[in-house]
Amino acid sequence: MTTAPTRTRRTSDDLIQAEAPVLAHNYHPLPVVIARAEGVWVEDVEGRRYLDMLAGYSALNFGHRHPALIEAAHRQLDQLTLTSRAFHHNRLAAFAEDLAELTGQDMVLPMNTGAEAVESGIKVARKWAYDVKGVPADRATVVVASGNFHGRTTTIISFSDDEEARAGFGPYTPGFRTVPYNDLAALEAAIDDTTAAVLIEPIQGEAGVLIPDDGYLAGVRELTTRTGCLFIADEIQSGLGRTGTTLAVDHENVVPDVVLLGKALGGGIVPVSAVAARRDVMSVLGPGQHGSTFGGNPLAAAVGSAVVDLLATGEFQSRAAELGKVLHAGLADLLGHGVTDFRTRGLWAGVDIDPALGTGRTISEHLMDQGILVKDTHGSTIRLAPPLTITEDELTTALATLKRVLHKLS
Ligand SMILES: *Cc1c(COP(=O)(O)O)cnc(C)c1O
Repeated sequence: MTTAPTRTRRTSDDLIQAEAPVLAHNYHPLPVVIARAEGVWVEDVEGRRYLDMLAGYSALNFGHRHPALIEAAHRQLDQLTLTSRAFHHNRLAAFAEDLAELTGQDMVLPMNTGAEAVESGIKVARKWAYDVKGVPADRATVVVASGNFHGRTTTIISFSDDEEARAGFGPYTPGFRTVPYNDLAALEAAIDDTTAAVLIEPIQGEAGVLIPDDGYLAGVRELTTRTGCLFIADEIQSGLGRTGTTLAVDHENVVPDVVLLGKALGGGIVPVSAVAARRDVMSVLGPGQHGSTFGGNPLAAAVGSAVVDLLATGEFQSRAAELGKVLHAGLADLLGHGVTDFRTRGLWAGVDIDPALGTGRTISEHLMDQGILVKDTHGSTIRLAPPLTITEDELTTALATLKRVLHKLS
C-alpha cells in the first residue's frame, strides 16, 4: 500500500510534476514556482528571489501587491464584494466616471477579462453599424491587422493569423478582414460601406512589441473618420502607463471612438476590463442586449478606481517615460552583442536575440537562472515589461544580467 501524497512542503520540482496529470497543457511556463511577491520581486517555493521583468504581461504595471491597491481591495472585501448587475451598488458610478475621464471617453461598459472587452467592443461596433450607419443586416465587417493578438475566444481567434492559436478551433466567425499592420493604404482599400470598425493594437505586444511608424495612429483616426467607421484601440496591454503615457494612442494625440482596457486595470488583484466609448456609440446598447454576472462588481470597481487614482497623478507615466530611456540605452549597448534588433516605448521592449545564441525560450531560461524573469514571444524575441515601480538600479541590474548572459552564450 502506498501512502497518500503529502500536501505540505512540496518542492518546486514536486509541484511542477504534480501539475502535468491534472492541469490542461495549454501553457509551457518557465520552471519557476512562485509563492509570494512584493513590488518588482517574486520569491519561489525554495525562497529564491527573482526580478519580475514580465509583470503579468502588463497586468502588474503597479507591481505586486501595491499598498494602495491592496488597501482598496481589503476595504472593499470588508463591505461588499458582489451584487450582480440586477441591482445598483455604491462603487460603480465612481469607477465609470473615473475611467471615462482617464480615457477621454463618455461612457464605460465594465467587463472582466481582456477577451471579453474585445468581444464587447465588436458587438457594440456591429450594433452601431446596423442601427446608426445603416449597414444591411448581418453584413457588417471589422478590419483587423495581421499579427494581431486580441484574446482567445472562438470569434477572436477567427481573425488571428497565428496558426497555433487558430488551427483546430473552427468553424470560424465571419465578418473580419485582415490587412498588414502599419499600412494605411491597405487599410483604406479594405474599408467599404459594410465596415463597422477598424480594430487595432496601437503597439502589437504579442507580435514582439511592434511599434507602427509615426503618423500611423493619426492616419487610422483620419481614415476612419473620413470613411465613417469606428476606430477601436485595443489598449489592453499597451494602456495604463506602460508606454510613458496613459494610453499608447496619446503619443499621437489621437482619441479613438472605442478604447479597450484590461490587464493593469485589475491592479494585479482581480480581472477587470472595460470598453470606454463615445456616448453615441455606447448608446446603441439597451437592457438585455449585453451583460456579465461579474462585470463591474464592487471589488473590481473599487480596485479599478484605485488604479485610476494611481494614474491620475501622472507619476507612473513619467516613470515609464524616464526609465524607458534607460531601457533604450541599455539595449542599444547590446546591439551587435547578441541583440540583432530591439524596439522600445516607455518601459516596454521587444528584443530580438541573435538566433545563434538560442531561442527566446532558452534565453529566458538562462535569465531565470540568473534571477530575472522574462517571457519569449516569437522565435528569438524576448519581451521586457517590468512593473512601472522598478527603480533605475533594478533596471540597470536586469540589463547588466542580460548582457552577461548574452556574452556567456556567444
Ligand atoms: C492580453 C490581451 C488580450 C486578452 O486579454 P485576456 O484578459 O487574456 O482575455 C487582448 N488584447 C491584448 C492586446 C492583450 O494583450
